[in-house]
Amino acid sequence: AYPDWKAGASIPYAALVATFSLIESTTKRLEKVSHTSLFLRQVLRLTPDELLLVIHLMINRIAADYEGIELGIGESLLMKAICESCGRTLATLKEEHKQIGDLGEIAQKSRNTQTTLFPPKPLTVRSVHTGLRDIALVKGDGGQGRKVDGIKKMLSAAKGDEAKFLVRGLEGKLRLGLADRTVIVGLSQAVIVHEAEKAGKKAPSLEQMIAAEAMLKEVYSELPNYEIIIPEIMKVGIMNLKDACKLQPGVPLKPMLAKPTKSIAEITDRFEGKRFTCEYKYDGERVQIHYVAPNSSVEFPTIDQKKGIAKVFSRNSEELSPKYPDILAALDKWVTDGVESFVLDCEAVAWDRVEKRVLPFQQLQTRKRKDVAAEDVKVKVCVYGFDLLFLNGKSTVQDSLADRRKMMYTSFKSVEGEFAFATAIDGQEVEIIQAFLEESCKASCEGLMVKMLDTPDSYYQPSKRSRNWLKLKKDYLDGVGDSLDLVVIGAYHGKGKRTSVYGSFLLACYNPATQNYETICNIGTGFSEEVLIKFHTQLLEFEIEKPKPYYVHATGNMQQPDVWFEPKVVWEVKTADLSLSPKYMAAKGLADVEGKGRGVSLRFPRFIRERDDKKPDDATSAQQVAEMYQNQDVVKNNAKKGVDDNFEY
Ligand code: AMP
Repeated sequence: AYPDWKAGASIPYAALVATFSLIESTTKRLEKVSHTSLFLRQVLRLTPDELLLVIHLMINRIAADYEGIELGIGESLLMKAICESCGRTLATLKEEHKQIGDLGEIAQKSRNTQTTLFPPKPLTVRSVHTGLRDIALVKGDGGQGRKVDGIKKMLSAAKGDEAKFLVRGLEGKLRLGLADRTVIVGLSQAVIVHEAEKAGKKAPSLEQMIAAEAMLKEVYSELPNYEIIIPEIMKVGIMNLKDACKLQPGVPLKPMLAKPTKSIAEITDRFEGKRFTCEYKYDGERVQIHYVAPNSSVEFPTIDQKKGIAKVFSRNSEELSPKYPDILAALDKWVTDGVESFVLDCEAVAWDRVEKRVLPFQQLQTRKRKDVAAEDVKVKVCVYGFDLLFLNGKSTVQDSLADRRKMMYTSFKSVEGEFAFATAIDGQEVEIIQAFLEESCKASCEGLMVKMLDTPDSYYQPSKRSRNWLKLKKDYLDGVGDSLDLVVIGAYHGKGKRTSVYGSFLLACYNPATQNYETICNIGTGFSEEVLIKFHTQLLEFEIEKPKPYYVHATGNMQQPDVWFEPKVVWEVKTADLSLSPKYMAAKGLADVEGKGRGVSLRFPRFIRERDDKKPDDATSAQQVAEMYQNQDVVKNNAKKGVDDNFEY
């Protein structure tokens, strides 16, 4: 349908944008998948070389997460660029922003009124990708100015809907409701259909489509890197991907996560008749350590064989090596002879050198995140290993936990105050678990992790919040309820003693299916005066004039917060219980079985701590909120309805 999209030519950005509009226009997931896959088929037919670029633009990321190249330009900078490129004043733009809310739409409207004498070249997928990347990479003196220039350049070439999606992309949110896994499904369908077409075979059957989808999901969960996967798809075909794309050191995988439980009885029920293990749940930061010895005997395609590799990654796949040079410097001492490469799943915990014991999480938070020299480290950490995902050239995720642990025990050795294995017992009796839980708390841990030991149920399931791992936090046992990680999206000015700071805050959970933030509670309890001052300074920087269009909040006569924020800050919050309320929007449509459009809200929420190891998108999901709501005894006895955990790929 695009005359200037010829085979072999760069894809017009307008073609991608037309697909974005179609995807945006429906809320049905299957329709989103179908628009995605139709477009990708066209890419495969006409310009397969740009498939990777297209996927990047669809998920609005210009590189793998761990490369740390992020979009997310602040609102004021974008407004400046829009003003300058469209010849508008900031005042009128701000006024319009108050009414419309969506900068993307404003940019588009502003563009339409302009006519240029010498129109710039039309945007292509390639030029937009390069443009976005250059803007994201700008650093240093005069960086702001150069970013504005880059944005202006792209905007001046934008036509029709293009400006809208350009601006949204720059803001960091396309708002297509196109979850990562929807893209995976669309891509798998496009490829399997295209492969059949190319081979002159008949269209693939439903079973073949499902098999292709399962294949891509599995491969992506072990190796979440389109830079490697896409070229391999072209080379070997989608059904042969598994052998070509395996977990490999240097590419962090999304960690396996646990489901919360509230009682030991729940655990013994779940694992009835199965072998399971209980481990201390250490209270620190999840780290995934990747290592390949220099000149290792196994060759890795993307690793410099001479130098090898040694890296630390966070739970959301950011590289933490600059934060933990001490871990990397000490690694050699922890491995036994013959270990040449590994990926280790562990928790880094602050360590008291004098008392020789672990310290609470708050201590770890005082550690600097960047530019730390190993010898200047103030807060020492001890690393507790609990899982081994890769050893000597081979992925171990499809070995049982019992086997993975055996391999870990023989490949590593503990070094006091530096490295240890997570303390574990393979006991079964309720009394023993109870005693072990108490012990773990005395040792400054948060509680226990309980894990399946044998059978495929114990395989490592990257990115899954699995029932094969249960967490039992000591607080749950007090009967005081659930803890959630929530995003701060608004605040109310303080009263009385608190007039110079924010006195309470509006929090939201994240819905990965729609990519919206949904309000869940106001919170004003659990903060000390110092903390309120600190948060005021921190959040002031993120104030915006209007709620983001992807904030789902009650309007009408519901009191609105005095200020709104960019979604940046994540807090852990505890609540006594969850209830349905028309004032909040969390898990709306998922939890309220009576269909009255109420959301879930937290009753008596209390601030526990900051979670700066989590990005806003890692906040507790709407699906989890619905699950927590439904798992309450009162609710359970009333209704039964399953909820999808949309976190998984
Ligand atoms: P939560 O963040 O509350 O969902 O709890 C899960 C987190 O506990 C993991 O992401 C790890 O960072 C941490 N953790 C501490 N000890 C362990 C352990 N033995 N096994 C797995 N995770 C652990």
